[in-house]
Amino acid sequence: MSVFAAAGAGLLCAGRLCAVRAVLPCLWRGKYFSSGNEPAENNPVTPMLRHLMYKIKSTGPITVAEYMKEVLTNPAKGYYVNRDMLGEKGDFITSPEISQIFGELLGIWFISEWIATGKNAAFQLVELGPGRGTLLGDILRVFSQLASVLKNCDISIHLVEVSQKLSEIQALTLTEEKVLLERNAGSPVYMKGVTKSGIPISWYRDLQDVPKEYSFYLAHEFFDVLPVHKFQKTPHGWREVLIDIDPQVSDKLRFVLAPCATPAEAFIQELSQRISLTGGAALIADYGHDGTKTDTFRGFCGHRLHDVLIAPGTADLTADVDFSYLRRTSQGKVASLGPIKQQTFLRNMGIDVRLKVLLDKSDEPSLRQQLLQGYDMLMNPTKMGERFNFFALIPHQRLHGRNHQMNACQSKPSPSPVAGFGELAWR
Ligand code: SAH
Repeated sequence: MSVFAAAGAGLLCAGRLCAVRAVLPCLWRGKYFSSGNEPAENNPVTPMLRHLMYKIKSTGPITVAEYMKEVLTNPAKGYYVNRDMLGEKGDFITSPEISQIFGELLGIWFISEWIATGKNAAFQLVELGPGRGTLLGDILRVFSQLASVLKNCDISIHLVEVSQKLSEIQALTLTEEKVLLERNAGSPVYMKGVTKSGIPISWYRDLQDVPKEYSFYLAHEFFDVLPVHKFQKTPHGWREVLIDIDPQVSDKLRFVLAPCATPAEAFIQELSQRISLTGGAALIADYGHDGTKTDTFRGFCGHRLHDVLIAPGTADLTADVDFSYLRRTSQGKVASLGPIKQQTFLRNMGIDVRLKVLLDKSDEPSLRQQLLQGYDMLMNPTKMGERFNFFALIPHQRLHGRNHQMNACQSKPSPSPVAGFGELAWR
């Protein structure tokens, strides 16, 4: 039975009914594939380009992974560190910024998993790369509205974020008040506070610093920004692609070939280890493929594709997530589900019922139109519905039912299906 049907249409309608979100005409990062060979009409010498040329001159060509790391997360000049790149005025848009329903359904997913795995007395909700905090805000609203279900559960929120600018925006979205903490004060927490609904919330720069406790993890459009290495097959075998200074054109970079564990691998191994150790689950949502694509490294600026080597530091760099790689890397320690298409996941989570509830409650034509456009953007196979995927890591015992009460008629425990990957079943 769907949670919406089970709990009544009013369940998720309390509080803010509809949040106005940007819909069109924005570009989501999963839309195009590009090798970054667009013509370089203008190539401003950004501070980042100067920094990279200096680095390459001193130590030689750098890997694509190093290039991405510097361009995106360099503490002084990185693309993510000092700006808000999301939304209509930014460089790209993401699902939670399009429709509140997206985050609400993910909130239900976490509660459903918490129930299915035996209602642990406490859990940490850990989000990797929370953007503006919009997704978490929608999830926490669901938690508040389902307070009677979560009562007596000790919840804390842990955000892994490298961007100073975005962490400030997250704090504005999520907290009543927050405290900035001194660097080097002996704690890896750099900011902390209390959410508007009274839940403790802490900010970290690295997943390694989050306490190793029973946790649910969320990574939405996070893995695609983690540095990747790029390889090319040559008559002499596979060679790594590097970035070097173009000797023909001044102040320009170019790809070269040269004679590896990636950050994505390290993150997945850390998540798998934690889940197998303490329980919980990880929900990873991103655009990507199941091992079927090769070169997907591309840049975005102002909702347009952008040559990855031009004006570094001014554009987002991204590569599609290879879910088959995440599955291989996590294998053994935890079980995985998916990837399944966003359209299927959200439908299983009850997006149609939720849309109907919101439409029934809103009389304003512009709001209704915004809800319908948001739904279309998230679900339409030609938009985000098929390009984006959901993937989960869960403890092996979650699939074999060791956490569950015995079914009265059976001698074997019967685990409930994992919501989203099957239909949401929650009593
Ligand atoms: N999840 C959000 C934002 C996606 S953009 C949404 O869907 O709207 C990527 C996010 O990851 C940003 O918040 C960015 O600052 C953060 N980020 C990028 N690289 C990171 C890293 N190595 N460690 C932690 N956060 C990172």
